[in-house]
Amino acid sequence: MKKQLNEIVLEGKSRAAEQTYFRLPQFQLGFDVGKGPSSLISCKDIFLSHLHADHCAGIRSILSERKLRQSSHPLRIYLPLYAKEKLDSILQLWQELDRREYDYQLIGVEHGKDFWIRPHLRVRAFSLYHRIPTFGYTLYQKKQTLPPLHRSKSQQELLQLQQEGVPNFQTHEVPLLSYFTDTTIQALEEYPHVFQSSILILECTFWEADHHKFAEKTGHIHLQDIAQRASSFQNDYLVLIHVSLRYSPKRVRALAKEILPPTLQKKLILWLE
Ligand SMILES: [Zn+2]
Ligand SMILES: [Zn+2]
Repeated sequence: MKKQLNEIVLEGKSRAAEQTYFRLPQFQLGFDVGKGPSSLISCKDIFLSHLHADHCAGIRSILSERKLRQSSHPLRIYLPLYAKEKLDSILQLWQELDRREYDYQLIGVEHGKDFWIRPHLRVRAFSLYHRIPTFGYTLYQKKQTLPPLHRSKSQQELLQLQQEGVPNFQTHEVPLLSYFTDTTIQALEEYPHVFQSSILILECTFWEADHHKFAEKTGHIHLQDIAQRASSFQNDYLVLIHVSLRYSPKRVRALAKEILPPTLQKKLILWLE
C-alpha cells in the first residue's frame, strides 16, 4: 500500500504475525523490515521497533540484496540496545554462510535518545509496553519560516536585510510522524506528544468487543482503547496498522464505522495490506 499524507509519501505493509514495515522514500528512511522487501534497500536508516519476527525477519534479505546490487552506502540499523550484539552475531554467521561481507552498522537504541539522521531530521526513541523491549519513534523536521514582521517584504527587501546581517528566518521543529507499535495502550498515556505528530502510525491489533482479553494478554491495543481516547488525537492522519489476520478487511471497516466517532473517522487510514 502507498499513500501521500501531507508532504509525506508512506509505503508499507502491516498485518500482525505476518509482517510490518514502512518506508518514507523521500527521506531514505524505514521503520521495521517485515519480510525484507526489495524496496527497503534504498534506505539509509531503518529503525526497528523490536525483535519479533514479523518486524525484523527480513534483515538478512535486505543486507544480502544490497550487497548484490552494490549499494553505495552502508545501512544504519537502529535496534533495542539489548539485542545489538546478538543480532550482530547472527549476521556474522549469515555472512560466513553467504561468503560475502554485508555493509551495515548496528546502533543501540535507548529510551529518550535522539538520532540526527540528516542535518534537518531527528528521530527520538521512547520505550513502549510489549512482551519484549520495544521502542516507538517520532520523526522531527527542522523547518525555516519568516517571522510575521518580515512576511509582507519582497524578495529584494529580504535580500537587503540578509546583507545587513538581520536574520530573516526562524528555525523550528515540526513532529512529522510517530511510529507506535507493538504496545499496550498504556504507552499512549505516557507519551501525549505523539498526538501532536502530523501522522500517527498506531497499532490496533484487536477489534471485536470480546477480544479485549487477548490485547491485554499479548501486549497490544484494542479498538475500544482508541475509541475511548478519540478526542485526544490532534493528528492530521491516524494510520491504524498491525491488524490481526483473524479480521477480514470488510469486518475491520464495518467496526471502525460502528465504534469510532465521525471526527476520528475523517482522519483515519486503515492499513490492511
Ligand atoms: Zn508485531
Ligand atoms: Zn511484537
